[in-house]
Amino acid sequence: SLTDKLQNVFKNLRSKGKLTEDDVKAALREVKLALLEADVNFRVVKQFVKDVQERAIGQDVMNGLNPGQMVIKIVNEEMVKLMGSETTELAYRPGQQITIVMMCGLQGAGKTTTTAKLAGKMKLKGKNPLLVACDVYRPAAVEQLKVNGEKQGVEVFSMGTGHSPVDIAKAAVEHANKNGNHVVILDTAGRLHVDETMMEELKAIKEQVDVAQTLLVVDAMTGQDAVNVASTFEEEIGIDGVMLTKLDGDTRGGAALSIRAVTGKPILFAGMGEKLSDLEQFYPERMASRILGMGDVLTLIEKAQDSIDEEKARDMEKRFKKAEFSFDDYLESMNQMKKLGGLSSVLSMMPGVNASQLGDIESAMDDKKMRRIEGIIYSMTPQERANPNILNPSRKQRIAKGAGVDIAEVNRLVKQFEQARKMMKQMPNMMGKRGRGRKGM
Ligand code: GDP
Ligand code: MG
Repeated sequence: SLTDKLQNVFKNLRSKGKLTEDDVKAALREVKLALLEADVNFRVVKQFVKDVQERAIGQDVMNGLNPGQMVIKIVNEEMVKLMGSETTELAYRPGQQITIVMMCGLQGAGKTTTTAKLAGKMKLKGKNPLLVACDVYRPAAVEQLKVNGEKQGVEVFSMGTGHSPVDIAKAAVEHANKNGNHVVILDTAGRLHVDETMMEELKAIKEQVDVAQTLLVVDAMTGQDAVNVASTFEEEIGIDGVMLTKLDGDTRGGAALSIRAVTGKPILFAGMGEKLSDLEQFYPERMASRILGMGDVLTLIEKAQDSIDEEKARDMEKRFKKAEFSFDDYLESMNQMKKLGGLSSVLSMMPGVNASQLGDIESAMDDKKMRRIEGIIYSMTPQERANPNILNPSRKQRIAKGAGVDIAEVNRLVKQFEQARKMMKQMPNMMGKRGRGRKGM
């Protein structure tokens, strides 16, 4: 796989003391082959290798990094750039206007599934989306949307298969107006291949209802085909963004790396499985780390420079994922984290951790607070530290007294600890190829 190949290249680099121009070139030849094999667009690969090479040769190696790590750093940064650097948010129309989102793509790409997944995400943001069954070719598609909509607790508008998609879309918007839905998501019909009727149909919808966002759904497993499909849709009807599905499978990474560079359109979301909760915002940085197969260890190396080695980072990673994480571990990891610039900065590099969770943790991390936290933890008995579940009010009272703090502070810490523990449990195993089921990129 791409990840395995890249890791081999870097392993060789890592064993060298100093990098010569020849070393860089040889390594990048391997990188180039690996990328091509992963079905990354040829022109993209060529430019990519050129950019990395220009930056790598003759650049000063940063303090604390070895030359191999320096090349990894540059490759990583250029990959992030390829994918657009920033996370792109779905743009809603302001105020009370209805945002009409049209989902399009080939048959089987994941439109209907992604429509329902997206509706779930919108609901979490307080929106009230209306899903619209515009696939009039397959009765089963209408039923599929209804079932998925129901699972998500969102309304599905359908008129069966006896009307044109344009008429259905118009009626749906009218319904949304009366019904107070501020988002309307149109699930359109795909075809096995790009064809003229499909494009005409989509164009007609776009012209006759006020589509704000045309989102193309493409299957990451199809590699460069996905990129070609994206180019065609962009040329024919114009798209605003891409939903890249099936990134949980044995994808080669080519689509994720080339779509932005080839079409100029960002990937907004990534489908990570068949379940309706398996949709993630697309983070170029996380994707690059994943493709490099070093997860966030990459950034850890960079941040920690010589204060922590990869070995230790990997241990910490293991401890994170253990559900039975104790206060002792908490204390120890806090100390480690201090060196790395705070728990939240480490967690923020990990997939599946959200900003509000981070905020809470972050606020607990300044030095003074950390000393108080240490005081509280040291006032616990070893049993309490190992098994925080036994902390009842009278134990908490005793601990507060011992640490000379208010009981509210003890409660806060326990809550934060529990939150951290929960977060670690949820943390997907995306730490490179050591993770379960995520390899193969
Ligand atoms: P449509 O024809 O474009 O509407 O595609 P569907 O939404 O019906 O999806 C086709 C198949 O792909 C279904 O079996 C989905 O469960 C599956 N699918 C969609 N998205 C994902 C994903 O992100 N990961 C995986 N593993 N399967 C997906
Ligand atoms: Mg469908």
